Amino acid sequence: MRQKAEVERFEPIAIDPALCNGCGRCVEICQVDLFLPAKEKGGSPILAYPDECWHCGDCVDVCPLMGAIRLLTMPKNRVRWKRRDTGEDFSL
Ligand code: SF4
Ligand code: SF4
Repeated sequence: MRQKAEVERFEPIAIDPALCNGCGRCVEICQVDLFLPAKEKGGSPILAYPDECWHCGDCVDVCPLMGAIRLLTMPKNRVRWKRRDTGEDFSL
């Protein structure tokens, strides 16, 4: 039986503090207010409520720095469809 302390916290988002400049765009756009701003100026936002994430990917889309923030789950609001006759796969 797993002890309570061993249960891993679900992290839908990963921020690389080495790349993040603390601009706060991800904090502003998140529709569920998952982040808290960093305490220090220029620091990375804090993932305060990871269980609230809708996996929309908006925080990743708005980030100006490639790789500073990543979505670790499949985006839910993306469109994906397949052409029946040719089998072509389109993902937006
Ligand atoms: S994926 Fe969407 S809901 Fe989740 S932290 Fe980013 S902006 Fe917020
Ligand atoms: S939008 Fe990107 S660079 Fe700006 S605070 Fe969020 S992760 Fe950091």
